[in-house]
Parts: sequence; structure tokens; C-alpha cells
Amino acid sequence: MKRRTFITLLAMGPVAACARPAHATIRGLTMGTNYAVELAAPIDDAVRTRLGELIEAELAAINRAMSTYDPRSELSEFNRRQDLRWVPASRGLLEVFDRASQISTASRGAFDVTVGPLVDLWGFGPEIRTRRVPDDSVIERVRQSVGYQHLQADLSAGAIRKRDSRIQVDVCAIAKGYGVDRVAMVLDRQGIHNYLVEIGGELRARGTTAAGKPWRVGIERPVEGGHVVGEIVALENRGIATSGTTEDFFEQDGRHYSHIIDPKTARPVEHPPIAVSVVADTTMEADAWATALVVLGPERGYSLAQARGLAALFVTASGPTFDVRVTDALRAHLVG
Ligand code: AMP
Ligand code: MG
Repeated sequence: MKRRTFITLLAMGPVAACARPAHATIRGLTMGTNYAVELAAPIDDAVRTRLGELIEAELAAINRAMSTYDPRSELSEFNRRQDLRWVPASRGLLEVFDRASQISTASRGAFDVTVGPLVDLWGFGPEIRTRRVPDDSVIERVRQSVGYQHLQADLSAGAIRKRDSRIQVDVCAIAKGYGVDRVAMVLDRQGIHNYLVEIGGELRARGTTAAGKPWRVGIERPVEGGHVVGEIVALENRGIATSGTTEDFFEQDGRHYSHIIDPKTARPVEHPPIAVSVVADTTMEADAWATALVVLGPERGYSLAQARGLAALFVTASGPTFDVRVTDALRAHLVG
């Protein structure tokens, strides 16, 4: 959904790097990034071809539903709607809207998929434009069209609606996670029980590696001249996702403006460079919470994660080093 410039002084995220001998890997491109599916058991060519097709079809369907880079997608069409009446929606959009709305409430609005107009205004949307700090008056005007309360999904009726026609939805902060969960479901349906699925750094594992061990994921962090793996997480039938303020940003007058927007201020988050990784039952949840916790920052985010029993790891840049804080729930997943 989003092409990221993945350069930066401080790009942090999970890498599926350690101790994971896989017998087969299926790779491809989706949502402006790479995906990879690692299988613990060997498969023959016919199965590989068939699986590849099923995965591609699933990902293509997700893009048709929720890409904001495709003007013909279901979401782009919904964004253009002026009508406030309920409209039937695909299963994918319903699930993503519904979960997004729950996490918006739980994060007190830090997570908000209606930030679309602000993401565009700050230059991080589908339209290429120069990235510069907008005028205060424009920020004030555009923020009037943001508010998760104005977006509704009714799962049982299979319909969605705007309660304010100006609402523009951007699901970039949750869609990769959702995509990972869907690809995992494709594998489950094919009777495959030992795998690791990744889309652009968001992952989900089931079962064990070829060596019969849990899948391990290293949380990467940059040091001078390269990256090192910090904490290692054992992923057992769970997802992990990372969000960070240095994944995409611009600088103006010596200040750093990230692609992650605080809906309360209508501006990019203000705290020092931060990355948050979250482990959850689904990668969709992990993805949304990782973004929400980045918005809330190292203090409020950590307190909320701890209070809700979320498994989260916060890495904040502190001069040339890093401060790392993990919640109690995350500790259970750490190796060593
Ligand atoms: P992620 O990499 O999962 O943290 O997603 C970041 C992307 O989500 C940004 O590039 C924006 O498109 C969008 N976004 C920015 N701020 C927010 C927010 N507060 N809540 C939800 N989505 C956001
Ligand atoms: Mg996210």
C-alpha cells in the first residue's frame, strides 16, 4: 500500500534472521514491499506453483479492497463517497475497519485510520508532493475531517458508512498485518502447519522450523556501519509487527517529521526516534498496536501497553545508544 524509503539513520524492525532453516521459500511483491513465506517442510514444484498462485490471488484481492494507491479499489471508491448511508463492503474491509475502530477506542484515538487527509497533507500519501511543513491554518482546516468516530462498520450487516462525508480512510498502519494473517490462512487451508509469513517486516509464525524449533525473530537495530540483532523473540502461533518514526520522514530546519501522525495534534509525532514491536495473536492487531504505541510514545505508550497486558518492546534512540523497555507480557516471548 505504501512504498517506503527505507533508508534512515535509525531503521529498526524485526528480521527473521536466526536459526530458521526453511525447506522452501515463496517470495513476491505486494503493498509496495516484499513478502516471503518460509515453509519448514519440502514441497514439490506442483505444490509450490499452486501455493504461489493462491497467495498471489489472496494478496491481489486485499489490494483491490484496500489500496489507496489504486483509484479503482473498494476503499478509494468509499473515500470518494459523499453519501452517508450504509454501503455493503467486502469481508476484508469490514474486518479491518472493525478492528481499527476497537484499537482507536482502546488507544484513546492515537490509532486512527481516518488520518488520511493529514497523511496526504504532510506529504506521506499516495500523491507525490514536496514534503514540507504546512501552514498552521491549513493544518487546522484539514484536521476537521479527521475522527474515527465518523467511520462505522457493521459486521453482521456487512456494511460500512461515513458519518461525515469528508472522512478519508488510510489503512496503511494495519493492512500489512491483515495481509500476513490472510496468507497464513491460505496456508492453514492447504494443510500446512509449519510456516513463517512476512510482509514488509510484519510476521506471523505457526508450528516449528525444519529443525523442530520455534521460529525465532530478531529485533534489528542499527549501529554505525550496519545493523545488529538485539532481542530475539520466539514466535509460537503469533504475529509480530514493528512501527517506527524513522521508517519514512523528512527534515526541515533541523527537525524530523515522521510519517506517523498524532491525530490529537494533527502533526507528526514529536518524541525522539522510537520504534515499537508488538507480539499479538494476530499480525493485524500487532500492526495496529505498534503504530498506536509509537504515537503514544515511550511513556504513555509503555504505561498503556503494560496496563492492557500487551506484549511490546520499545526502543528509543538516546544519543548514540538505545533505551530498550519491554512489557511484562513481552518478556514471556524473549529467548535468552
Ligand atoms: P505503520 O508503518 O504500520 O506504523 O503505518 C504507518 C502508516 O499509517 C503511515 O504511513 C500513514 O499512512 C498511516 N498513519 C499515520 N499515522 C497514523 C495513525 N495515528 N493511525 C493510523 N494510521 C496512521
Ligand atoms: Mg502498523
